Amino acid sequence: MNLTGKRALVTGASGGIGAAIVRKLRAAGARVVAADRDVSGIEAEAHLPGDLLDSAYADGLPQAAADALGGLDIVVNNAGVITRGPVTETSDADWKLSVGVNVEAPFRICRAAIPIMAAAGGGAIVNVASCWGLRPGPNHAVYCMTKAAIASLTQCMGMDHARQGIRINAVCPNEVNTPMLRTGFAKRGFDPDTAVAELGRTVPLGRIAEPEDIADVVLFLVSDAARYMCGSLVEVNGGKPVG
Ligand code: NAD
Repeated sequence: MNLTGKRALVTGASGGIGAAIVRKLRAAGARVVAADRDVSGIEAEAHLPGDLLDSAYADGLPQAAADALGGLDIVVNNAGVITRGPVTETSDADWKLSVGVNVEAPFRICRAAIPIMAAAGGGAIVNVASCWGLRPGPNHAVYCMTKAAIASLTQCMGMDHARQGIRINAVCPNEVNTPMLRTGFAKRGFDPDTAVAELGRTVPLGRIAEPEDIADVVLFLVSDAARYMCGSLVEVNGGKPVG
């Protein structure tokens, strides 16, 4: 992929998948603004730390990124949180956190980024949804709902903004070897390495995804190779479509 000269904003840039997306975008020639609560460990052309639950921060991120890079061609809404449990065990705090980070923040960022991109003739947005946004998963009701919501928003925005030259798509991973997955195992008392290896045996390809497996698909979606894709939900699952 050649993304020379492209200017990109990546949220969740310090996380497992986000850091891989930042590395690969930069390796392909893009200039990148890294956004996360703490971006001190991430190499990028600009850093915009903040909390996506702060609506003013989320609303302002696209313009701040455009100001930092002299324009904005690519946005990757990657930041996310996972809360466990059926609805009967979901607290108000978990609901607000999940909806706030996984749905409201990308909504705010897209709403602010689209006019900036439209004024410049176009752009590409990728939202990181999940296989669990396409089908139900056990014991993560609100997480699944938030990923279904961002998947639906992606399909609608992909349709609504194609005429402005803006392609909006989503990537839908199954299990990925990142801190999100590993800390979940650790919290439940499992050794993350053993649990990841065991989980890998349930995947037809023989392993769960590494962050780079997802980042490569994100790069494809923001590149000209995906020039006819708008509102697509691209599943990346190693042959395992369900949880
Ligand atoms: P991760 O926990 O490694 O990274 C998530 C990042 O989002 C973190 O760096 C975190 O600081 C950031 N973030 C969370 N809340 C934030 C907030 N309020 N403000 C600013 N930043 C915030 O997780 P990951 O696995 O790399 O997840 C990336 C995306 O992939 C998420 O949207 C997740 O739902 C999705 N996903 C992950 C998996 C998986 O198995 N790991 C599977 C499917 C989808």
